[in-house]
Amino acid sequence: MARKFFVGGNFKMNGTIQSIKDIVKNLNDAQLDPNVEVVIAPPALYLLLVREHLREGIEVAAQNVFDKPNGAFTGEISVSQLKDSNITWTILGHSERRTILGESDEVVASKTKFASEGGIGVIWCCGESLEERESGKTVSVIEKQLAAVSAQIKDWKNIVIAYEPIWAIGTGKVATAQQAQEVHEAIRKWLKANVSDEVAEQTRILYGGSVNGKNCKDLAKEKDIDGFLVGGASLKPEFVEIINSKQ
Ligand code: PEP
Repeated sequence: MARKFFVGGNFKMNGTIQSIKDIVKNLNDAQLDPNVEVVIAPPALYLLLVREHLREGIEVAAQNVFDKPNGAFTGEISVSQLKDSNITWTILGHSERRTILGESDEVVASKTKFASEGGIGVIWCCGESLEERESGKTVSVIEKQLAAVSAQIKDWKNIVIAYEPIWAIGTGKVATAQQAQEVHEAIRKWLKANVSDEVAEQTRILYGGSVNGKNCKDLAKEKDIDGFLVGGASLKPEFVEIINSKQ
């Protein structure tokens, strides 16, 4: 079965009520490739606003979720609260949360287990730093991240992997199509060897890191690139070009 192309927009900690309504209107009015699954992740404060105004057929993601059912966890949001609000996806393991907020591979894995088993789709992020790439450790870093999540996940059907080299995030320095394809192929190979042929074949692997309206078409041609996770450009009208990059 062919993997459906997937484009996620990560707004990070950006936007106002008005600017987010403008982004939603732009998406509602656009001609989007019907063969693409589109998910946008506004800041938590705006999740309900986006869900209320966004057209059917585009899903909404949180940028994080906690790995406890409910209760005394000040500042956190639960899986059941996302479901109650019709928020069907979450990003987890973004490098900004790993590096700035100190989330370990194990914390990310635990959240991924909790969300995916609770019926929320997870855009699970992995990626290497510039130093790790330059010292030839890219694949081993990603394999370590994959092993930590795989140790806790039995069912991969609610998980999409986003390969996001840290040196490419928000820097304007995009990985070449060949660099991205090499890592995507290594991820698929790892899934085949360590999970199953079926999971390797069916799991979507997105590329993220300075994707824009100009570079998306080249990246989208690679056989193991099944979509994008887009930061900065998801706040701009060119997000539509990225969604339509296969056309
Ligand atoms: C991201 O934050 O997931 C991302 C890929 O950011 P950018 O597209 O701005 O590099």
